[in-house]
Amino acid sequence: MRGRHSAAPSSYARNVAGSIRVARILGIDIRIHFSWFLIFFIVVLSLADSFGSENVTWSDTKSFVIAVIAAVLFFLSVLGHELAHALVARRFAMNVSSITLFVLGGVANLAKEPPTALSEFLMAAAGPATSIVIGLVGLGIGIFAPSLFQSAPALQPIQPVALYIGQINLYLAAFNLLPGFPLDGGRVFRSIVWGVTKDRVTATRIAARGGQVVAALLVLAGIVLAFRLDATINGLWLAFIAYFLWNAATATLQQERITSALGGAKVGPLMATDFKSTPPGVMVGQVIRDLVLPMNLRAIPVVSGERLIGLVAIGDLRKVDQARWAETPVEQVMTPAAELSTVSPDDPLGTALEKFSATELPLLPVIKDGRLVGVLYRESVIGYVRMQEMLAPQGRR
Ligand SMILES: [Zn+2]
Repeated sequence: MRGRHSAAPSSYARNVAGSIRVARILGIDIRIHFSWFLIFFIVVLSLADSFGSENVTWSDTKSFVIAVIAAVLFFLSVLGHELAHALVARRFAMNVSSITLFVLGGVANLAKEPPTALSEFLMAAAGPATSIVIGLVGLGIGIFAPSLFQSAPALQPIQPVALYIGQINLYLAAFNLLPGFPLDGGRVFRSIVWGVTKDRVTATRIAARGGQVVAALLVLAGIVLAFRLDATINGLWLAFIAYFLWNAATATLQQERITSALGGAKVGPLMATDFKSTPPGVMVGQVIRDLVLPMNLRAIPVVSGERLIGLVAIGDLRKVDQARWAETPVEQVMTPAAELSTVSPDDPLGTALEKFSATELPLLPVIKDGRLVGVLYRESVIGYVRMQEMLAPQGRR
């Protein structure tokens, strides 16, 4: 969904901007996207309204409080859905750093793609399976609550809340099971095609096309709702979801195209071994005068001997007031090596592209046996991809 020409990371690995951390569960950061606060507000208002009209004896305050409780339970069940994905992912040694809840549900950020068709199948199915279980339990409680709580009228609100949670979780499961990548159903679909054809690239392409088809169908359904059934809001809502789905499916196709253009290429042949570096004690002014201006360098590795200790970029240098250029060593403003992404000459170019997409820096230091042996420029990788695409036989796409 990002507009960069470098590979957009796949949905599992996508970072969602504009979110804040609210909790940490089982070592996984739980983040909430700002759109969620809006959704929460809308859910509370519409629930308070429907609870109020279905239970005429309830005061407005009571309807509102029950609506807030129901909305929190809804929120927790979406979280349960995402945690199920994350725990299965971890079972297959895929590191999950965070879960972001946003407008369409959630995104579990995985460091890499699933290793096998079976692991993807189980991982993708775990979320909707959880939603279905919560949904059935909710409906069950809702159906049996009246007889269970007959003697305790104070517990009567449990019934509408349980019915709501039951229904919404079944809707959630049904929506997520639509067979369009990157929805869960699309991933299940991809894993099956992958398992049958033994070809992940083809499977991804088919599933992503499926995502575009589902997006188009959602737009059609939205138009019908908006104009023929006079349900404009629901129609707009569907169109909005379709927009996200279309973008994600398209980004996946693009990613897959780039990955296949890269083939088995490695970092080594493409890195520059003839590059400028600077020791840590050199002053900012000297680096600007001797390296940045004459050679138009936008980022310079800071080395001690052959060991990389940091990287200083134009943005770092600009933070130093000109009056202090002569007395500020670069090590004071550089990004330390521990915070930098690096690659090795044997890494696939795809790995380098993923790292570029997570940083603004124009280069990645290339490290071998603890020594800085080269730098890989973003432009070199992008140029390589363009060249491969240009020379690729027509029709391969
Ligand atoms: Zn899911």
